[in-house]
Amino acid sequence: MLSLEEAIERSLAATPKLGGETISLANAEGRFAASDAKAKVSLPAFDNSAMDGYAVRSCDLKSATADSPVGLMCVGVIPAGTFPAGSLENETCMKIYTGSPIPDGTDAVIMQEDCRSTPGDGATILCNERVKPWENIRLQGEDIREGDAVISNGSRITAGTIGLLAASGHDRIEVGRRPRVGLLATGSELTEPPGCLKPGEIYESNRAMLASLAAKVNAEPTPYPIVPDSLDNTVAALERAFAENDVVVTSGGVSVGDHDHVKPAIEQLGGSVDFWKIAVKPGKPFVLGQVGSKPLFGLPGNPVSALVTYLLIVRPALLNMQGAREWRLTKRPGCLVDELVNRGDRRHFMRVTIDDRGLVLSAGGQRSHMLSSLAKANGLVDLPPKSRWSKGERVEVIPIDQ
Ligand code: AMP
Ligand code: MG
Repeated sequence: MLSLEEAIERSLAATPKLGGETISLANAEGRFAASDAKAKVSLPAFDNSAMDGYAVRSCDLKSATADSPVGLMCVGVIPAGTFPAGSLENETCMKIYTGSPIPDGTDAVIMQEDCRSTPGDGATILCNERVKPWENIRLQGEDIREGDAVISNGSRITAGTIGLLAASGHDRIEVGRRPRVGLLATGSELTEPPGCLKPGEIYESNRAMLASLAAKVNAEPTPYPIVPDSLDNTVAALERAFAENDVVVTSGGVSVGDHDHVKPAIEQLGGSVDFWKIAVKPGKPFVLGQVGSKPLFGLPGNPVSALVTYLLIVRPALLNMQGAREWRLTKRPGCLVDELVNRGDRRHFMRVTIDDRGLVLSAGGQRSHMLSSLAKANGLVDLPPKSRWSKGERVEVIPIDQ
């Protein structure tokens, strides 16, 4: 049996990078930068005020106190979006607003709250406080300097990076292309919901579930019609899905039964098959196929096995195709409130709930066909073989929603 780490490594190695596309910043959240981007301007672009108040020379206010304020002649106003001409003389000041440029000759801003005008004469400002040199001034380039990297190749674009990119002069960004993922469900027992079920049939549920997960990592999932268990059907369905997508994900039909046609179908298409029994529960049987340069991930049909193997093995590959630097699942620390037991000899990714205080409970039945606990769960706990973790144990929970 293959270790999970080895399975991930092989699946990463099998996935080609898709290259980049340039998109508007407005659509870039969650995507991955495909090149480094540099600041086109410094931030702040010029020395400016951090407050509404008066631009002053700090040396003029050395003796200012509330009891003995210093009066400065106000010689002008600097609204945001304008640039003050000339230089300030001794014992003068200019009214200034947050973000307005600092006039030459001044080295501080006194807050409006620390000043008042002399009665009847609006032009003299009485300053009740001293200010230190550069107090309330945001210096040019103290945040970012022109030419500095604002995002590096492979980083995930967040709302914050979008803000920084826009502020430093970008309206577009080069990102890794979204992988087109063909989703196939194999099984003659499967029927599309909400159609009528004939005896022995079940509703197909993996395509919608996997599509929702794949969309979280920017993939463009396309569900294809259900594939009945025959080699011809499977070959035809795979051929179409490979022609129209960058990667194909199937569910079902990868065990060793007579009706498991995914492996022979890949071979009939001239592809290669790497069949694994991965040492994880749920989700032992798994196929990594390759047709031309395109990968196929053959997931087990049981819905929980399909979801767990998708998260553990397919998700990293979809991220890798986009050039993402980080493809590992994030984890949240938690504390067990229930006992969790794994009597088996494979790691068991158990369905749990974790609340906002970090308390972790079993989500219910842990067998691989049980969807009610999957729906209730918001995380998985990786329980080593033959282990019993007691109440109070510190655990790491893998959120499912990623
Ligand atoms: P298989 O991997 O094809 O042997 O299927 C294992 C189990 O998962 C069987 O009980 C199937 O009926 C069920 N199953 C397979 N594919 C799906 C699907 N797409 N939706 C729901 N259940 C499925
Ligand atoms: Mg089947």
